[in-house]
Amino acid sequence: MTTKTIKKLSPSPFIKDTGKPEVWVANGQGAYANTMAALANIDLSPVRGKRVLLKPNAGRLAAPGAAVTTDPQVVAAAIDAFNAAGAEVAIGESPISGINTLEAFEATGIAAVARERNCPLIDMDVNHPVQVAVPDGLAINRLFVCPEIFEYDIIVSIPVMKMHMHTGVTLAIKNMKGGLWRRTKVQLHMLPPVEGYDEKPINIAIADMSDILRPHLSIIDGTVGMEGMGPSAGDAKQLGVIVVGADPFATDAVACRLMSTKAEAVPHLYLAAARGYGVIDLDKITVSPDNWQEFAVPFAPPPSNMAINFPNITVLDENSCSACQSTLLLFLKRYGEKIFDYFETENVHIAIGKGHKKIPLGTLCIGNCTVRHRDRGIYVKGCPPVSSEILCVLSAEPSFDTKDGTVNSDSD
Ligand code: SF4
Repeated sequence: MTTKTIKKLSPSPFIKDTGKPEVWVANGQGAYANTMAALANIDLSPVRGKRVLLKPNAGRLAAPGAAVTTDPQVVAAAIDAFNAAGAEVAIGESPISGINTLEAFEATGIAAVARERNCPLIDMDVNHPVQVAVPDGLAINRLFVCPEIFEYDIIVSIPVMKMHMHTGVTLAIKNMKGGLWRRTKVQLHMLPPVEGYDEKPINIAIADMSDILRPHLSIIDGTVGMEGMGPSAGDAKQLGVIVVGADPFATDAVACRLMSTKAEAVPHLYLAAARGYGVIDLDKITVSPDNWQEFAVPFAPPPSNMAINFPNITVLDENSCSACQSTLLLFLKRYGEKIFDYFETENVHIAIGKGHKKIPLGTLCIGNCTVRHRDRGIYVKGCPPVSSEILCVLSAEPSFDTKDGTVNSDSD
């Protein structure tokens, strides 16, 4: 592990001194052509002879078009545009905990377009991280950053346009959380409240992070977005737009408007903008073309509370963090019906969080925080476990005591 250093990404060479950040929206031509059209507005000459790292969202094993990961044709266009401008281009990612980076590149279709173009794929979890200080951080005071983020000259954030259960939206700023090394990114979900702030600590932490990791250029993929329970359990929403800008906050603000929400309602964006990290006020951003707001599509917001109305499932949540909440919501969305195959009771109890004093016999205990109750039900280890692991434990490990209706598990 390296020692903590004072370091942040350099200012973007694409920001013009016009007094107003500029953002471009392209639509109606398909993912590749839209990306090319939007990028054509940017003077890419600063990348000549430079090393450009594309940071798409390839953080999960999801097929192209599922609205979970970046459309490979958007990445393909970015590779071609930066290659044509004389850059050396690579693609990097550090996925969510439990996901293999190179497998994610394959599943998302990004590996295929990269291979066609001889563009290297980088598993950013392989090398040792750079530990950097976050001097003005309120929720965090250090980050473990994948080293490639500082080794490359230009960082391009290429997120998918999605609603997010914990952060409101996930766009160019939030996508940089995938530049944090291995499971250190999960730690942002486990922070204590910040005194004097009502916002969730994860949102304050992302605002803190954005002081250090502001991408030089943002290409937001709104080809197929995700509404509702993003980042992975929502519904796909056809939009057909690409949004490009050098100020990631301005670019995110325009994307928010295209999703029919406001950056001023997104905590990590308004907190960071208030510190002067970027501009989210649409009146202070020049957006082209003039009729860009006509491309907006209403996105269903993320649920306002974490309870999901699954009949006969009781969620016992005592002091859990957002990482386990996400796992559970994804699990229930994917496998909520199936769960009853593994229980002999009509009402299934599920526990998350570290605050449980006593839980009902037979409870499905999810996450390391529930380990001390493991003898009272089925225990799924992990911090957090991924949702499919819960099903694995349910289907492979538990033994059912049909005499008294309890469920025991010897899994660990
Ligand atoms: S086990 Fe779950 S609730 Fe506990 S710290 Fe880990 S992710 Fe958070």
